[in-house]
Amino acid sequence: MTELHAKVLVIEDEPQMQKFLRACLSAEGYRVVEALTGKEGLDLARTHNPDLVLLDLGLPDIDGTEVTKSLREWMTKPIIVISARGQEDDKIRTLDLGADDYLTKPFNAGELMARIRAALRRTSRAGQDQPDPILMVGDLLIDLENRRVMRDGEEVHLTPNEYKLFAYLMKNAGKALTHRQLLKEVWGPAHATQTQYLRVYMVQLRHKLERDATRPRYLVTEPGVGYRLKG
Ligand code: CA
Repeated sequence: MTELHAKVLVIEDEPQMQKFLRACLSAEGYRVVEALTGKEGLDLARTHNPDLVLLDLGLPDIDGTEVTKSLREWMTKPIIVISARGQEDDKIRTLDLGADDYLTKPFNAGELMARIRAALRRTSRAGQDQPDPILMVGDLLIDLENRRVMRDGEEVHLTPNEYKLFAYLMKNAGKALTHRQLLKEVWGPAHATQTQYLRVYMVQLRHKLERDATRPRYLVTEPGVGYRLKG
C-alpha cells in the first residue's frame, strides 16, 4: 500500500468539516469513506477496512471515546481524533484508549496531511516482518539491538530509564503520547499518574539530546497531554 492510495474513513457529523476533510484528502489522492454518526462509522470500518480513521469526538450518537474503544477491539490501523476546544479530557482519554494522534479545531490542511502521513508511515513500518532495529529522526539515532544512542554521530550515554523512555518515543516518533502511556511504558502501570517523574526525565533527555534544551527541536511538550518526538 502506498500512502497516496490509502483509504481514509472520516467520521464527522458537521457538513462543513466533512466537506473540508473530503477536499483535503481527495486532493492528495486518498480514497475517502464518510460516516456522519458513530454507529455508521463503526459499520463502515468493518465493511471498508480503512487504512486510517479520522474521528470527530463530538458525534450525535456515540461518544468519540466509545467509538475508539470499539474500534480498538479489533482494528490496529491508526485513529486520528479531531477535537474541539474544551474536549481536553476526552481527547486524552481517547489517546489512552489507543488513538494515535489528535488535531484540535481549527487546524489547517497542511497540519492534517502531515499527521496522516506520519501515522501511515508508522503503520507500514510496524507491518514489516523484520522491523528495522535502527531508527533515525533528524540527527538522532537509536540502535535497538545494541541499545546505543547517537546524536549527530556522537554516542550519548543514557541511564536505563532514560533509554526506555527515549526508545519508546523513537518507536512512536511523530505520535502524541500521553503522560499515562509514557509512565506505564517506562515505570509500569502502578506509576501511571506520577507525571513529575516524566518531567524530570524529559529535562534530562533534553539536556543530553537537544542542542538547546530550553527550546527543544525533537522532544516537544504537548500541553496538557504529554510529549511527542517530533519527526
Ligand atoms: Ca461534531
